[in-house]
Amino acid sequence: MPDIIQLLPDNIANQIAAGEVIQRPASAVKELLENAIDAGGTEIRLIIAEAGKSLIQVIDNGRGMSETDARMAFERHATSKIRHIEDLFRIRTMGFRGEALASIAAVSQVELKTRRAEDEIGTAIEIENSAVRRQEPVAAPVGTSIAMKNLFFNVPARRNFLKSHPAEMRHIIEEFTRVALAFPAIFFSLHHNGQEMMHLEKGSLKQRILQVLGSTHNAKLVAVQENTDYLNIYGFVGKPEAAKKTRGDQYFFVNSRYIRSAYLNHAVMSAYREMIPSDSFPLYTLFIDLDPAHVDINVHPTKQEIKFEDEKVVYAFVQAAVKHALAQFSVTPTLDFDLDPHIQGLDAVSKPVTEEKRAEAASGRLYEAFSKKNQAHLIEPENKSELKHWREFYEGPPSGGGVESGGAVGMAGDPAVAFAGARTAGVVQPVEGAELQQLMNTYIVTPTNRGFVLVHQQSAHERVVYERLAAAAAGKGIAAQQSMFPVTLQLSPQDAALLSDLQPDLLSLGYQIEPFGKNAFIVQGTPADLPQGNEAGAVEGLLEQFKHFTSEIKFSRREKLLRSMAWQQAVKPGAALDQSEMRALVDGLFACEQPNVTPSGQPTYIEFRKEYVEKLFGK
Ligand code: ADP
Ligand code: MG
Repeated sequence: MPDIIQLLPDNIANQIAAGEVIQRPASAVKELLENAIDAGGTEIRLIIAEAGKSLIQVIDNGRGMSETDARMAFERHATSKIRHIEDLFRIRTMGFRGEALASIAAVSQVELKTRRAEDEIGTAIEIENSAVRRQEPVAAPVGTSIAMKNLFFNVPARRNFLKSHPAEMRHIIEEFTRVALAFPAIFFSLHHNGQEMMHLEKGSLKQRILQVLGSTHNAKLVAVQENTDYLNIYGFVGKPEAAKKTRGDQYFFVNSRYIRSAYLNHAVMSAYREMIPSDSFPLYTLFIDLDPAHVDINVHPTKQEIKFEDEKVVYAFVQAAVKHALAQFSVTPTLDFDLDPHIQGLDAVSKPVTEEKRAEAASGRLYEAFSKKNQAHLIEPENKSELKHWREFYEGPPSGGGVESGGAVGMAGDPAVAFAGARTAGVVQPVEGAELQQLMNTYIVTPTNRGFVLVHQQSAHERVVYERLAAAAAGKGIAAQQSMFPVTLQLSPQDAALLSDLQPDLLSLGYQIEPFGKNAFIVQGTPADLPQGNEAGAVEGLLEQFKHFTSEIKFSRREKLLRSMAWQQAVKPGAALDQSEMRALVDGLFACEQPNVTPSGQPTYIEFRKEYVEKLFGK
């Protein structure tokens, strides 16, 4: 029998390898744009015909290539970006695998024109099936133009897999958008079939976001910015009310590289917890910059997935930074970064590396956020750098007014005024001492600084109780009141098991419960502010409510208990309240960290602004 193994010819090997890197026109767009950025281009034009199936061309004004380099660039594993394996962990360029141009040359007809500033004359090269067809000197502007024509002309099976023009074009625009968002200091344009579809002038990140996502987003963005020793996070997140029912407009960039990460997405989502309904998606464009030594970007052929050395730390930072931004936007009086204690204990989080770094980091905002509570009201008006930060939150005109459920509205102008106004004009505040009116034994009409609000008594009280309990549980725990006549509680085996399980958490929440034989317990004490007399009923009700939450795995046990207790203790619709009870409830609500929604995200009040009411009357 003859031997049967053969080496594949280069062009076939390249075609196979191309399958990983170039799946569709959009993948080539990404690779070519990234090369133009790596070459230091400040103006990059993308020209497409027939959704990339007949032409994808990228023209840059970057550093160009020498004659030899221009030829070398199309070899497999040819790169100017790394030399040693360790370089992988110092990468500051978008590319490094040296595969893109080789792959492109294997599956399309390529025309390259390039010139370096120091060369009089440039180089033109034509390649097909991985082989050079023509090479000659050419007059060319400084920079590089690469045109790839008839993608997959030599791999009909793959060409047949391409989707309709609109579908492929959608992918191209998506890639273009990601790259354009990551580099606002670079001019980009996109032409399709001879028409300019996008024209993005150089500018700030915010300007770029508005250029790309639409200027209607202006009033909806909240700045995120936290700098630490370990990483910097910056960018913008959408205000809760701008959240949409469909995913989209969610971008993460790590060292300027767009990445997909369900894990980090979860970190952002959890920062919005209680602010948006669970089935809606906030928009965000967030950048994480950190030492490349702490990430592995070589875990995926198109580099859209990466691995963090310490994923948990990054998660915690992202979550805290977004929470911080959102909290400042809604001008809440206190902040609670309820980090996992494990994470809080990590060195990277708990202590800066050196004394010098410590001083530096201690002046950084995130460090403060991690190390103390009560952020917002600690900001002194004379602290200029913080004020600069505040200005961002108050950028843009106040929204048009109208019916709003919860939330504050930004103010334009002088940051000092904005700060001073934050607690008065910018935020809805009940008028002190004004007479309150209960309607239908359910709603409380409350005059405010800019109109009135209709408070839902149960929802509002749920919020007030929840925050009080959460604060107490995070601190010394909730005081228990010893029962004069301890009652016993006989439970089903399932409920008994559940209660045993919850016992330690319940204790910190003010319930002293001890086992008392088979499936029985004795209630020695209940939270101090719970009316006495129905201890057994209270515990049973609590268990019932807790079971409601058990399907919601995302909450910790304590969180579920807190919510159950808040729900249980909240005044219900139908209860008549007197003036002082209403006053206590309304004042309590507006003193809350997050007054506008219940723990599960329903509105606690509806605001009627003066201008809006006037408009209704045609004034
Ligand atoms: P990688 O980007 O991973 O290095 P590529 O195959 O994309 O691999 O490119 C190979 C090499 O060609 C690059 O390392 C770079 O030196 C050169 N190159 C590619 N595109 C350009 C460009 N637009 N301008 C200048 N040099 C380029
Ligand atoms: Mg490349």
